[in-house]
Amino acid sequence: MLHLDVKEIVYMRQLVFFGGSTAVAVMLLVVLVLSTVAVRQATKPLEMLSSAFVSLRQGQYQRLPAIRSGDDIQALIAAYNETVSELEEVHNKLRTMADRDGLTGAYNRRSLDKALEALDFGLDSGEVNHVSFLFIDIDSFKGFNDTNGHLAGDEALRRITAILTRIVGDRSVFRYGGEEFAVVLRNYDLTQSLRIAEVLRREVEKAADVTISIGVALMPDHALSGEVLIARADKALYQAKETRNAVAAYQHG
Ligand code: GH3
Ligand code: MG
Ligand code: MG
Repeated sequence: MLHLDVKEIVYMRQLVFFGGSTAVAVMLLVVLVLSTVAVRQATKPLEMLSSAFVSLRQGQYQRLPAIRSGDDIQALIAAYNETVSELEEVHNKLRTMADRDGLTGAYNRRSLDKALEALDFGLDSGEVNHVSFLFIDIDSFKGFNDTNGHLAGDEALRRITAILTRIVGDRSVFRYGGEEFAVVLRNYDLTQSLRIAEVLRREVEKAADVTISIGVALMPDHALSGEVLIARADKALYQAKETRNAVAAYQHG
């Protein structure tokens, strides 16, 4: 027969009570930690999606990485990524349509204004020394259309674009309007610009069924703003048109 005195019994009861309480407390803590982790795991993709939407609103087309989660969340992320890709494609198409001429694919007048503005800024900051504007006009193009048809005229415009871009690069060639183009160059002086203009004239003469005349003006040599630069190049072009199939530099007076 086991004899326990009252003190021992009380002590053992306390031991059982505190031991039990501690075990329950530890279990509760473990459950709490595990459930917090589980909730965070579940809400993490949603937080990712939410911040991705914020970036999208700011114009950033970011795709989300694949993550380990439930099927619903994975489907949501896949749908989001597909939507972002489609939006980016549409955006790029719209930007191309806004910046480029539909017939020739050359940059359009709007892009020219933007480029001149940026170069004007480059001149002010000292990053650019010269901006050359080569104003190009097809010679007797009306007659060419009348003889060969409008479609042949369109083809000539495309061919000239290809020749110009092959020589000076895509970013420097603009369709100013109708049968007029602009080539904008940076950091070439007048002699070099005239030499490049002469190469363009000659290559068009060789490879297209039409000829071109080119008026050349430079910033800051002949003008201090894009607007005046174009007017000065136009004046030089007028002079080149005296003979046609020619290059002329702007001259005062
Ligand atoms: P010049 O040597 O004095 O420049 O004579 P030109 O005949 O080229 O000049 P004009 O301004 O009289 O005629 C320009 C012609 O350009 C008339 C127009 O039909 C043609 N043109 C303008 N845009 C296009 C186009 O997109 N496609 C075609 N095929 N022709 C165009
Ligand atoms: Mg013209
Ligand atoms: Mg013309």
